[in-house]
Amino acid sequence: MQADGLGGNGSQTDAYPRETSGVSAPTAAAVGNKAIDYSYMHPRLAADLENIGTLLEQTRQHAVAALATLERRAAALAPRAFTAVALPENGIGLAGALQEFTARWAPGFSGSAGPRYLGFVTGGATPASIAGDWLTSIYDQNPTAGIDSSAPDLERETVLRLREMFGLSDAHRGVLVSGATMSNMVGLAIGREWLGEQRGINVSDVGVGALGTVHVLSANAHSSVYKSLSMLGIGRKAVTKIASLPGREAIDIAALEAELQALDGQPVIVVGNAGTVNTVDFDDLVALAALKQRYSFWLHIDAAFGAFAALVPEEAHLTHGLDAADSVCIDLHKWLNVPYDCAVQYSRRRDLQARVFMNSSAYLGMPGENPDFVHLTPENSRRLRAVATWFSLAAYGRAGHAEIVHRNIRLARQLGDRIAVQPGLTLLAPTRLNVVCFSLAENPTEARTNAYMRAVRDLGEVFITTTFYAGTWGLRVAFCNWRTSDDDIQRVFESLVTAIKEI
Ligand SMILES: *Cc1c(COP(=O)(O)O)cnc(C)c1O
Repeated sequence: MQADGLGGNGSQTDAYPRETSGVSAPTAAAVGNKAIDYSYMHPRLAADLENIGTLLEQTRQHAVAALATLERRAAALAPRAFTAVALPENGIGLAGALQEFTARWAPGFSGSAGPRYLGFVTGGATPASIAGDWLTSIYDQNPTAGIDSSAPDLERETVLRLREMFGLSDAHRGVLVSGATMSNMVGLAIGREWLGEQRGINVSDVGVGALGTVHVLSANAHSSVYKSLSMLGIGRKAVTKIASLPGREAIDIAALEAELQALDGQPVIVVGNAGTVNTVDFDDLVALAALKQRYSFWLHIDAAFGAFAALVPEEAHLTHGLDAADSVCIDLHKWLNVPYDCAVQYSRRRDLQARVFMNSSAYLGMPGENPDFVHLTPENSRRLRAVATWFSLAAYGRAGHAEIVHRNIRLARQLGDRIAVQPGLTLLAPTRLNVVCFSLAENPTEARTNAYMRAVRDLGEVFITTTFYAGTWGLRVAFCNWRTSDDDIQRVFESLVTAIKEI
């Protein structure tokens, strides 16, 4: 049963063994003038607490080295076969854990924080956001109930600053959640409650069954919308896929209007898309907003990364109309480049939001005008994840973050232009924003496309992911990382060309 090499025999009766081999007994630490005796703790805890300064310094050194070598780390690597090591009885202390992590785990980690991990839609972490993230753990606040700390107000300031950055009006109130999936889920949950309100039904009390069939209309909803509908009891099959414009992923507004007419009077949620993952296409948000004047539906907009177009004057028109949405999803661990896991969720109906997520307990209080976060999100206890975002916004401001977005778009288009004329590769769509979508020119089967993705990965320089778009298997190169440079584009392009010959 012992796997920690400390030689424990598992038969101690003392809950806090003092003399296990390799575990030094605690002494006293001086804080100010006062010596504190930590001997009441498990010796490993006491020793780590006494040496916290040195240990955090070791951790800092590891971090600095990891960042310094990030550019040399493989962008991605095939996961190695692994065998789980059993739970240690007494542990090896923080220094030991750091050593074991460095030896056993860090080498297999990808360079996903680095400039050439261009798979999925992946951001890195700015220096300020890393510092903020560290301090989140140091202070370990739980911004749930507003009676014990000003921590919840830091989150409130953060969502206000983000609202300003994305040009949303003060009709929108925000909360932070763990990612765009949860942001979509919360927005759709409020929409579900709104559908009930239209019919005098309190869905949060009586359940979704009372609504009958719910219709969700969208042209190209992200997979997380289907997952959210499954979680919400609405069901994945509630989605009616509306036609896109020819050769586009953006919704055909006329087709949507026809469907709304046909469903006259039935409960409807429309999911608008501001930045699809394959071609970063945007629904005409102004036209969606105009339809709201004539038809009754909840408009949720998934702007997970597309919302960042608002930061760049030449692209900001794409996000016009976003404010008219009833609920908005924006990811922060993608294009804002804060560490996982963080997204923001805005809605115009905080009253309905509190009805859905209300966690009434005498000691937590009933939600009022400005409800505590415990009444607004799926979690009760939660991390003060706003700190990383707060730090990055404070450190770099709107202009710093706009520069990242602007540069990523420029680099994506530059790569798109090179792929367009490269024999062996074919662009599948124009590079609208920050994603290049292409395929193998010859025989782009699923197997060959996967083999190509792995061949690119195993060259070690760049990571891209596969997709299925416009009836063919293809690949996506998605730019979100704050470090990516013109030099990186050269290296990415060379890898993409080299890999053609390897399949
Ligand atoms: C990434 C993404 C999501 C899901 O986001 P997570 O942060 O992975 O939960 C939803 N919608 C769009 C458009 C996305 O790009």
